[in-house]
Amino acid sequence: MPYSHLLAPLDLGHITLKNRVLMGSMHTGLEETGDWNRVAEFYATRARGGVGLMVTGGMAPNREGGVFPGAAGLFSEQDIENHRLVTDRVHQAGGRIAMQILHAGRYAYSKDCVSASAIKSPISPFAPRALDAEGIEVQISAIVTAAQRAQAAGYDGVEVMGSEGYFLNQFLVRHTNTRTDDWGGSYANRMRLPVEVVRRVRAAVGPHFLLIYRISLIDLVPDGSTWDEVVLLARAVEAAGASLLNTGIGWHEARVPTIATSVPRAAFSYLTARLRPEVSIPVITSNRINSPDVAEALLAEGAADMVSMARPFLADPDFVAKAAVGRADLIAPCIACNQACLDHTFSGKLTSCLVNPRACHETVLSYPPTLTPKRVAVVGAGPAGMMAALVAAQRGHQVVLFDRANALGGQLNLARRVPGKEEFDGLVDWFAASISAAKIDLRLGAAAKVADLRGFDEVVIATGVVPRDIALAGQERALSYSDVLRGAPVGRRVAVIGAGGIGFDVAEFLSAGPHLLAKDLAAWRREWGVGDPADVAGGLVQAQPEPAAREVWLLQRKAEKLGRHLGKTTGWIHRAALTMKGVKMIGGVSYLGIDAAGLRIEKDGVQEVLPVDTVVICAGQLPERGLSDQLSAAGIPHHVIGGADVAAELDAKRAIDQGARLAAGL
Ligand code: NAP
Ligand code: SF4
Repeated sequence: MPYSHLLAPLDLGHITLKNRVLMGSMHTGLEETGDWNRVAEFYATRARGGVGLMVTGGMAPNREGGVFPGAAGLFSEQDIENHRLVTDRVHQAGGRIAMQILHAGRYAYSKDCVSASAIKSPISPFAPRALDAEGIEVQISAIVTAAQRAQAAGYDGVEVMGSEGYFLNQFLVRHTNTRTDDWGGSYANRMRLPVEVVRRVRAAVGPHFLLIYRISLIDLVPDGSTWDEVVLLARAVEAAGASLLNTGIGWHEARVPTIATSVPRAAFSYLTARLRPEVSIPVITSNRINSPDVAEALLAEGAADMVSMARPFLADPDFVAKAAVGRADLIAPCIACNQACLDHTFSGKLTSCLVNPRACHETVLSYPPTLTPKRVAVVGAGPAGMMAALVAAQRGHQVVLFDRANALGGQLNLARRVPGKEEFDGLVDWFAASISAAKIDLRLGAAAKVADLRGFDEVVIATGVVPRDIALAGQERALSYSDVLRGAPVGRRVAVIGAGGIGFDVAEFLSAGPHLLAKDLAAWRREWGVGDPADVAGGLVQAQPEPAAREVWLLQRKAEKLGRHLGKTTGWIHRAALTMKGVKMIGGVSYLGIDAAGLRIEKDGVQEVLPVDTVVICAGQLPERGLSDQLSAAGIPHHVIGGADVAAELDAKRAIDQGARLAAGL
């Protein structure tokens, strides 16, 4: 059997999970829409895909504990009824689901937030109110009540969120707990709150209800927990009645990436492996696990009893089902980009997925089999064209996909060359496998001409973009980003014109040290200062970044902080990575020209020459519409998608979404 460890059942006494796969908690924003049919369908779709157990997004136990004002929770009979719709639909689909109870503490985006001590978080504008003993009791009771309501709503259990720097975590460490009463000071006192919560929840829900405690294995903040403290807590939580230990990595305010694409796969699972022998309940590992192979290997080597994956279930609800039939190559991979999930969450938008636009849109976007199969031509095998071709073919249309290049992928083939973006390899591979499985007639290596496109019922133009010509004196001496990413020789001192997503990518590509950090855990840990909580509280040590390969200037005309428009949850990582490489990020620049001396610029009215050997232009793109114009002239109707439609602010998310939506309606 493929994936014999991953697909093995897990006996938890009163219930048996059908496999070792947990869909970890994600805040999708669906509950707040009030459309409970949509919430139910989101989870039921994943239950049908075979996942062993799911955990919902965090539900607030009370108003002050909500992540933001109006955050969903089980506050009324009506809330319980709404959640029952979800649990019923999941159970009908053969799934299991636990509700996460999330008290945000000082991370609550509200002036009413509460915590152990009145210490403001660096990522929140609000200082919390320090709770008195009575106030702590109120919070415990609210969490217990939430668990009872979850039980009444038909959940199989609850997950008590104790990691990522939320309320319970805030009591555990001196970083946020400076109390001198029974809830602070010694570790026995600091861990009293989480242990009391688990004990009281267990007493309230009885023995036949899952109680997962999410424990922080490495806080990655100063004065975080030591490893001995983590073990003490794990044992105490087990004794208090937890049935499973899920694991969390890093506080939200930590300045170390923990789930971004540049983090090596399974980077923190060694800590779960170390915790597992210390307790007798099953332990779940998490973070940067996105393929059944990685998950299987972790279980086979005994690093955990279960594997938690969250975003991979946005990318593909059928992850487990496809693994079980030996078609892991057809699992749409989560590339850990955060672009349509966490970046949406933090911008107040509904979650979705770059790779799967149906995620969280199950009831509003579907790909029904067509009743009238058509002949469809798609020109351009970048993300927009590949997705349009794939969805059209999966719906039953006969699709021909053209590209003048010899390989699928378009601009994805540039992105995948950037250090830290290796996950794009898997995305291109998935498109290739899926296009082959959908029996699309693939015609690579020849530019499609108007004559080739006559006779089709639908023609889709996804010919992408061309770099913008910035008409700079001496620009014939410069390289374009595509030259550079394809391997053109570049000198030791480089100026990058344009600091959008591609300028940042190119600066990272040019400054990177010798190790491929996303593939080399030891080097990555040195780069970001990730130590061992057994040696240093919280696991933070002095970062030792590798020396930069080149001296790089990254420039833009706008007089604002560079990278302001990068992803909300990943922009800081790119800026930090470049800062560690000594990249000089300069805004408010005018470009005067390139000559043998270097790049001439003006800044604040002062002219200077940057003494660089190479200038790379990353100044955005324009639509490539040559073929579309010819089709229009020939009177052939066609659709234009992706960069060929709108180049400004194009990214793979918009391209894939547009391709999918067009094909859903053909
Ligand atoms: P972009 O984000 O539009 O950035 C273009 C850059 O060129 C800006 O810094 C702009 O800043 C500068 N520029 C524009 N016109 C110029 C001119 N005439 N002369 C000199 N500079 C000029 O485009 P991009 O970097 O090519 O990226 C394209 C898309 O790919 C983006 O929308 C991005 O979201 C996406 N992408 C995303 C990622 C990611 O990690 N999420 C990575 C790569 C690309 P000034 O006008 O201030 O100079
Ligand atoms: Fe993964 Fe990106 Fe999809 Fe989020 S948007 S689930 S990170 S692929």
